[in-house]
Amino acid sequence: MSESTVLKFGGTSVADAGALQRVAGVVQRAHRSTRPIVVVSALAGVTDALLAAADAAASGDAERIRLQLDALLERHAEIAGRLARPENARGIRTVLERTRAEIADLLQRVAAEPERRPALRDELAAYGERLSAALLTAVLLATDVPARYVDALDRRLVPVLGGYIGATLEGVTTTLGRGGSDYSAALVGAALGAREIQIWTDVSGVLTADPRVVPGAGTIPSLSYAEAAELAYFGAKVLHPKTIQPAMERDIPVRICNSNAPAHPGTMVTARGELRAGTVKAIAHKSGITVLQIGSTRMLGAYGFLRGLFEVFERHQTVVDVVTTSEVSVSLTVDDARSLPDIVAELEPLGTVAVESGRAIVCVVGEGLRTTPGIAARVFATISDINVSLISQGASRVNLTFVVDEDRVQEAVLRLHDALFEREPADLDAAAATGAP
Ligand code: ASP
Ligand code: MG
Repeated sequence: MSESTVLKFGGTSVADAGALQRVAGVVQRAHRSTRPIVVVSALAGVTDALLAAADAAASGDAERIRLQLDALLERHAEIAGRLARPENARGIRTVLERTRAEIADLLQRVAAEPERRPALRDELAAYGERLSAALLTAVLLATDVPARYVDALDRRLVPVLGGYIGATLEGVTTTLGRGGSDYSAALVGAALGAREIQIWTDVSGVLTADPRVVPGAGTIPSLSYAEAAELAYFGAKVLHPKTIQPAMERDIPVRICNSNAPAHPGTMVTARGELRAGTVKAIAHKSGITVLQIGSTRMLGAYGFLRGLFEVFERHQTVVDVVTTSEVSVSLTVDDARSLPDIVAELEPLGTVAVESGRAIVCVVGEGLRTTPGIAARVFATISDINVSLISQGASRVNLTFVVDEDRVQEAVLRLHDALFEREPADLDAAAATGAP
């Protein structure tokens, strides 16, 4: 294990001069005790603006959002003017002017070369992280952190890399997908055998539930990789789902920290996690889900049926999240319903197809769920008056997942949080015994 620690800062952590100053403080402190490697996202809003510019250019209308993009890009120079040393601020200004010219050129090519659009979009989006990394380097230099904007390592310096961006084997600029700079940090950390990978964002780690639904939601101090992977799908804003894999392969702890509250310990993700008494760590949910039920007596005792069914989803590049089966039917959920009409048409030869939209997935997560008796009873007793249309438990050892009506999901999550986190265990047993919420 090397002495290096990867510190990744998200877009809101570098949104303005105040935020960048706090980040510089975090890196400065880390630099005293370890060898930090900094991975940074584009400034908040910049990736969106670059991709919107690409879209506008594709429809022959690049001028429309030109001013907005220009103002966002100008922020890099403004912040450098306030926080960097004059010579470095001039350097950022030069980089920015060159970037503007390159962007203008790329936007013209987007309009002129439709077949190259996907690659050109990536090339455009990559400027967000290239600029933010150059800017953060300049800000760090002003606080006497010997930073350097690089894509390779130098032992004495603090390397600052833009996350999210990369190149194909042929050397063509590409990106790792929206939110991908967390994944960049994990890849760098795994490659170096880092001591820790820190993901700095604008909330204090992973919370026990969505705080917009549950005001009493609190930070989860520790998670196992498996728990974090389940939660990343629901709370993708906090941690990109792919982040866990590289860290897990090298057994590197991932810590999720708040750049607005650097002293808060945040959430620590490790191989072991920590078993929480009662074993439930979080209640996640996701609305806007569609349930499909495919029934066929042909499935009875037949093989190959499920393969045929899932091939339909594969052809339409549609992700299936939760699946349950009985002898003669399959129920499953999809999040992205764009190809649904085509999918349903192709499923119909296989059997009867029922589509229920307006559903929500609730996912109760905790190591030990599978081996602790009584949890499912508690969960369903708490929401006994809410209709549950699909249940999946046991697919992974860490979650109990079910589907309810979208209209009632907030109430369900609120009540479950109250029952599983905010009341004494004795209350829970009583609730489970009587079926009372
Ligand atoms: N800037 C990229 C995005 O907004 C990558 C990231 O922030 O993780 O998706
Ligand atoms: Mg992110």
